Amino acid sequence: MRKLAAGNWKMNGTAASLAEVAALIAAQPDPACEMLLCPPATLISAMAQAARGSALQVGGQDCHPKTSGAHTGDLSAPILADAGATHVILGHSERRADHGETDALVRAKAEAAIAAGLVAIVCLGETEAQRDAGDTLQVIGAQLTGSVPPAATAAQLVIAYEPVWAIGTGRTPTPDQIAEVHAFLRARLADHIGAEAAKVRLLYGGSVKPSNAAEIFALPHVDGALVGGASLKAADFAPIVAALSAA
Ligand code: PEP
Repeated sequence: MRKLAAGNWKMNGTAASLAEVAALIAAQPDPACEMLLCPPATLISAMAQAARGSALQVGGQDCHPKTSGAHTGDLSAPILADAGATHVILGHSERRADHGETDALVRAKAEAAIAAGLVAIVCLGETEAQRDAGDTLQVIGAQLTGSVPPAATAAQLVIAYEPVWAIGTGRTPTPDQIAEVHAFLRARLADHIGAEAAKVRLLYGGSVKPSNAAEIFALPHVDGALVGGASLKAADFAPIVAALSAA
C-alpha cells in the first residue's frame, strides 16, 4: 500500500502561498509516498496547475452531497474534480462542530465524492471529554459505521483518525493510544467494508510535525498523516513527507 502525506490548509492561503507549493515540489520531487495538499477551494485550480507534472496532488476540504443545484456558497464533488481536485476531506471535526455535520451527512458526501471520482478522506475522532470517559473506541466505531459508505473500495477511501483534542494544540496521544485506535479502526473497517479494509490507508492527524512524524509513522496500521498547521510551510511539510517516505 502506498502511504499518504496529506496537508489541510483549512482557511489559510492566498495566491502568494503558492510559493510554498513550488518549494515543496523542489524539496520532495519524487517521494516514496503520495503527497497531497488541500487548500481553500479558491486555490485548487491554481495549485493543480502549479503541481502539474509533479508528485503533488490537490484536494478539497468539503463537498456538498448533491452534484449541482440551488445551494448558494456550496461546492459539489464534480465541481471540485473539474477544478483539479483528486481527493476531498470530509467530516473534519471542525466541520462537524462548526456546521453540525452528522455521520449520515458525511456518508452522503463521501458517496458523492466517490461517484465523482474523488478519493474520500473521512475524518473521525473523539473529544477530550469522550476520551476521559473511556468512550474513545465506542465513539470512533460509531462514527466509522455511520460515516463510511459500506461499498467503498480501498482506492476510493482514506480514513483519518484525528483526536479533536490533539488538533492544533501541540498535544498528541501516546504511541500506544494511536496504535490502539488504528488497530481498532482496521478491524471495525473490515466488519464494515470487508476484505478491502486491509488496503485502506489509515492516517493519523493532530499536531503532527517534523519532530514527531517518524515515531508516529513507525506505528502499526499508521499509513500516513493528515497535517494541519505543519502543512502550510514547505519547510515543515517536506520533512514530514520525507519521514513517511522512509517509514
Ligand atoms: C487537522 O486539522 O486536520 C490537523 C491535524 O491540524 P494540526 O496538524 O494543526 O493539529
